[in-house]
Amino acid sequence: MPTPLSTEVWESLDPQDWESLQALGHRMLDDIFDHLRTSRDRPVWKPMPDQVRKKFRASLPREGQPAEAVYQSFLDNILPYNMGNDHPRFWGWVMGNGTPLGMLADMLASGLNPNMGGGDHAAVEVERQVIDWCKAMFGWPETASGLLVSGGSVANLIGLAVARNARAGFDVRRDGLMSGHPQLTFYVSSEQHSSIKRAIEILGLGAAALRKVPVDSAYRIDLGALEAQIEADREVGMHPVGLIGCAGTTNTGAVDPLDALADLAEQHGLWYHIDGAFGALACLAPGVGEKLKGMERADSLAFDLHKWFYLPFEIGCVLVRDAEAHRRTFAAHPDYLEKAARGLAAGEIWFGDYGIQLTRSFRALKAWMAFQTYGVDQVGRIIGRNMHQATDLGEEVEARPNMELLAPVDLNVVCFRFVDPAIDPGQLNAFNEEVLIRLQESGTAAPSGTLLEQRFALRCAITNHRSRGEDFDLLLDAVESIGGEMLDEGWQPSD
Ligand SMILES: *Cc1c(COP(=O)(O)O)cnc(C)c1O
Repeated sequence: MPTPLSTEVWESLDPQDWESLQALGHRMLDDIFDHLRTSRDRPVWKPMPDQVRKKFRASLPREGQPAEAVYQSFLDNILPYNMGNDHPRFWGWVMGNGTPLGMLADMLASGLNPNMGGGDHAAVEVERQVIDWCKAMFGWPETASGLLVSGGSVANLIGLAVARNARAGFDVRRDGLMSGHPQLTFYVSSEQHSSIKRAIEILGLGAAALRKVPVDSAYRIDLGALEAQIEADREVGMHPVGLIGCAGTTNTGAVDPLDALADLAEQHGLWYHIDGAFGALACLAPGVGEKLKGMERADSLAFDLHKWFYLPFEIGCVLVRDAEAHRRTFAAHPDYLEKAARGLAAGEIWFGDYGIQLTRSFRALKAWMAFQTYGVDQVGRIIGRNMHQATDLGEEVEARPNMELLAPVDLNVVCFRFVDPAIDPGQLNAFNEEVLIRLQESGTAAPSGTLLEQRFALRCAITNHRSRGEDFDLLLDAVESIGGEMLDEGWQPSD
């Protein structure tokens, strides 16, 4: 018989026995610390067996079970089949490792669980402080606004939304884009990250409004082609509004001429947004400032703290020079969000007015702890080491007869492939795709793959604070031995 709500049977989601859950918490902490401390001793990645995968096709749990049992299932079925980006030899896509301190901060943040939409409480001050430190890091004025977000994709979306609204020349929020105005256009290099195109689509402009400009041999935007495109678009009645610079492209790590782009944006009255998802952070490394000159001139800047600042996912940031334009793009004031002069609903900055989310997590805490515990100089030294590792890896690739470097090494990205006269040139791509898969399956190292001018490349993006010099020797030795093995077995593509 169902229990009436008013009886003595009272439930909450707190443990009935606090001591035993606390003991389990200590065990979890010990286990995950052991896991992180020993990551080097494990394969980077291993495929999940079918019988384990089946555990994730269970029916909806109606009745609970002890937390200890659920945790055991984490140990058995999740921990061993992790992605592997905590490993010293993970260089796929562009990912950070996370840090033990960041993990602890996330636990504290989740424990306190404040809502970062706004209000007058300590966590809001923490996020303000982190954003101020980010401004200082990039030489931005204190008057700029900023927001911590899930990552570079949302940071790009927010920056470009402000750009669209600020430069459209009409009230986009009120009238929308179907109100008979000329097509608004944005400009970016053909090496742009897919999140830029997606942002333009989400903003209702249509992918065709993103004008992709060709790159030079170092994969940087071609300034002449850019100007020609802007002028051609103006001539046919389009309305150029924004220019997007890449500070570190995903494919090759190329950095656009950011200062020249700033001049061009100024000259043409365009909003200047920079996608610096990982590359922006290179400015912390000793001697790299010059390469990123111009970053301080952008109208909006998107970057991640979960890539080359190594924090656990998810944390990125967008800075906007014109704080009022930023607020005007997103602020909404329903009665139930009325602000007060005093009390919990006070506070000057309501982060909910600067982005898409109202309820927001306390992701700021891990950044606040990291900035203070490491100092940006230590992070900068490790970023600098990653850049040196990339240069060294590129040189080592060029020194080995069975390897070919496929793009100049910029920042931290190295693209290369296995070559041998015995491989039919038409099969080099398929051959190297197989090398990459075997390499990942071996658990030795985890680069990812990309296509550069139709050539398949093994691609290492080094945003890894755990990698040592010998890890890259292991990588190249493994590629050589896998390639050799495939030659010996007379490997052919299956179709
Ligand atoms: C990773 C990346 C993004 C997207 O950032 P997320 O944090 O994955 O959302 C955007 N631009 C570039 C250049 C990137 O490398």
